[in-house]
Amino acid sequence: MVETQVVTDSSLFGQIAEHQHEQVVFCHDHETGLRAIIGIHNTVLGPALGGTRMWHYASDAEALNDVLRLSRGMTYKAAISGLNLGGGKAVIIGDVGMKTEALLRKFGRFVQNLNGKYITAEDVNMTTRDMEFIRMETKHVSGLPESMGGSGDPSPVTAYGTYVGMKAAAKRAFGSDSLAGKRIAVQGMGHVGTYLLEYLQKEGAQLIVSDYYEDRALDAANRFGAQMVGLNEIYDQDVDIYSPCALGATLNDDTIPRLKCQVVAGCANNQLANENIHGPELVRRGIVYAPDFLINAGGLINVYSEVVGGNREAALIQTEKIYDITTQVLNKAEQEGSHPQAAATRQAEERIAAIGKVKSTY
Ligand code: NAD
Repeated sequence: MVETQVVTDSSLFGQIAEHQHEQVVFCHDHETGLRAIIGIHNTVLGPALGGTRMWHYASDAEALNDVLRLSRGMTYKAAISGLNLGGGKAVIIGDVGMKTEALLRKFGRFVQNLNGKYITAEDVNMTTRDMEFIRMETKHVSGLPESMGGSGDPSPVTAYGTYVGMKAAAKRAFGSDSLAGKRIAVQGMGHVGTYLLEYLQKEGAQLIVSDYYEDRALDAANRFGAQMVGLNEIYDQDVDIYSPCALGATLNDDTIPRLKCQVVAGCANNQLANENIHGPELVRRGIVYAPDFLINAGGLINVYSEVVGGNREAALIQTEKIYDITTQVLNKAEQEGSHPQAAATRQAEERIAAIGKVKSTY
């Protein structure tokens, strides 16, 4: 079973051991200036899949911390969704201005050398063009555009998973999963947020929206007949459901006391500023929380369909299961007297442990 240990050792291997990573690969190339780290957290269920992000980290330690944290998150997302995938992630250290064809292809060769143990994809600051270069050196690339034979934009599938997860949470809170007439505040009118609004509008919800860019919020308000509110006002709305679809850590000491909703369900990653504090705090306030890494797994499910030779329809069918899994997790949290994020994490760990035993004989 995957267990979180208390940090006692800040050495390199101490950090790698903290969350039981299997392998961490440091990639260096003098000619191109490539400095990258590939984190492979757990491959019990299958190859480690997760995107490559490029970031100007302040230090190597910060880059390592990011790749370890992100790759671990991928293990849980895949496991809870019933996918036969492990968790991995890669970071390329540096500014986007450093990107060259040679640097990206060199990185692709490092991915290739792992022989499929790690499958990469697009992430922050990586473009489709960049992935094309990486793909020239390795076939272990997923999430490519449809024009390149890939599964295309994952956002509509992520939005669908968020929508069904929201409905399962609504069923728990209101006794019915109908969103008709429900007042829903959606924060973030990006790729996923706008697709989510389509589902919510179709079902007859009353929508409130905000975005960092006022024109995006205004567009969405016009398109979906929503009310637009300011960035900070979104937390004070008299709504049934709050849907964080922008940034992480929006459930924190400042915002939670302001929420009037009975459900929180959105696609943003890492919504709880501190899982151990804010997970229980939502339960204490009677707010049903749909775990983020579970209900935003549609994008990963879409990429998985590319890995196993499926299609968008198969991905949507698999994504629909998020409804039942959310229900199971909410039941489990109640039975265990814990909070949904903890229950979801445990459910993921239990699957990894059980399937690990299945694989223990030849
Ligand atoms: P995006 O960049 O397209 O959209 C994010 C939107 O949030 C932008 O319009 C941005 O202006 C807005 N925003 C930023 N700060 C804000 C603030 N303080 N208040 C209101 N709006 C703000 O991103 P996306 O692809 O739609 O993803 C949204 C979230 O979902 C991210 O946290 C992402 O990590 C997560 N996620 C996305 C996918 C996917 O398939 N795209 C999958 C899983 C998780």
